[in-house]
Amino acid sequence: MSAHKVDIVIIGAGIAGLWLFNRLRGMGYDALLLERDAIGCGQTLASQGIIHSGLKYAFAGKVNALAKSISAMPDLWRDALRGAGAVDLSAADTAVSSQYLMIPPGMMGDLIALASKKALGGSVREIERSEWPEHIEQTGFDGTLIYMDEPVLDVSQIIRALAEPYKNSIRKIDDRDPFEYMNAHGIEAKSYVVTAAGSNADIAKRRGDDAGMKTQARPLLMGMMKHAPYPLYAHLVGASEKPVATITSHIAEDGCIVWYLGGGVAEQAKDDDPAKVYKGARKAFAKYLPQVDLSNVEWAPLPIDRIESAPSMKGWLPDQPAIHTCGDVLYCWPTKLTFAPLLSDMVLEHLERENIKPSNTDHDWSFLPPVDYARAPWDKAIWTKDN
Ligand SMILES: Cc1cc2nc3c(=O)[nH]c(=O)nc-3n(C[C@H](O)[C@H](O)[C@H](O)COP(=O)(O)OP(=O)(O)OC[C@H]3O[C@@H](n4cnc5c(N)ncnc54)[C@H](O)[C@@H]3O)c2cc1C
Repeated sequence: MSAHKVDIVIIGAGIAGLWLFNRLRGMGYDALLLERDAIGCGQTLASQGIIHSGLKYAFAGKVNALAKSISAMPDLWRDALRGAGAVDLSAADTAVSSQYLMIPPGMMGDLIALASKKALGGSVREIERSEWPEHIEQTGFDGTLIYMDEPVLDVSQIIRALAEPYKNSIRKIDDRDPFEYMNAHGIEAKSYVVTAAGSNADIAKRRGDDAGMKTQARPLLMGMMKHAPYPLYAHLVGASEKPVATITSHIAEDGCIVWYLGGGVAEQAKDDDPAKVYKGARKAFAKYLPQVDLSNVEWAPLPIDRIESAPSMKGWLPDQPAIHTCGDVLYCWPTKLTFAPLLSDMVLEHLERENIKPSNTDHDWSFLPPVDYARAPWDKAIWTKDN
């Protein structure tokens, strides 16, 4: 007989596992969250923290399923951030409540600006030059500045707000397969939710649950720039509709501002030469933001895979969270941090269908080791001057 029967075990403490865990615990489920390394250590803390509204896709002329399904997400996050949502994130700060789209002059820029205003109405508006914020003026940017109603999160605060209320039920497991580990400790659940990103496929394979499971890993080589002069949150568009660079800002443990660069500059093989990212970023800054002084910055690369379930059409990006169900095990991919609330709703619908109800009990897990919070990539980076 099993020594520890619980309602739900979740495997993997990234945003998908944490959001679901917090919701389940709030509803009275006896839920245990198992993490192999540290809370948030995967893609979650490496993300740029942008709560997309689909504007980026609409700007690209793609008012598609992704743009539509994602447009409801910012409001769900805002509700949570003011303590009035499905989870309570009121202990966390939002880095900023909106960001900018910077469109340089020229044919493509004008077309994008026109199309976006037409397609998106009120949630997006051009900012008159006379009203540009000082730090945008300071970049030397010349073109169209669009206000985007998209929050950018301080992800390390978000993960703490989700984990802290129920931290005693988040426990560290070793390198063994999580089901083997649970077996060894007599842990049994009515349902298991695997939110272990890149490990989902391995875990499923070992259990023989992988038939029909399709995942993809998109390799990225992100760039980090330390000693940035001021915080900046923007998609910088170039000659095509795709951003040349998506820039978010983060405060390192030593108080320095770090610009984190995604978008076009990061979309290369992750084992590529980091110098290419720095060079690409310098080129983009010199061309579009010529007054930004990069002489004092230090650089660091972040090679990382973006893990998603693979859409059926090659080259397409997934436009929803995905769940692969095998008996009482659910393998989950949120696809984006933004989609974590929707993924949780999908899991809850499954539990409802399976008639798995909260038992309103609580286990003492103190016989399993506790787990730490992960440090952000910019706090672990090795910086180079590269001038
Ligand atoms: C560079 C980058 C930037 C991004 N920017 C954004 C953005 O701005 N906005 C947005 O919406 N999305 C963004 N994303 C996507 C987003 O980060 C991911 O979709 C999301 O974080 C995935 O969450 P997750 O919980 O599924 O996975 P992860 O965050 O990867 O978490 C998986 C967890 O499972 C643990 N784990 C793995 N194996 C095991 C095991 N065997 N046992 C126990 N635990 C295990 C890991 O240690 C990890 O903690 C970005 C992604 C990347 C890579």
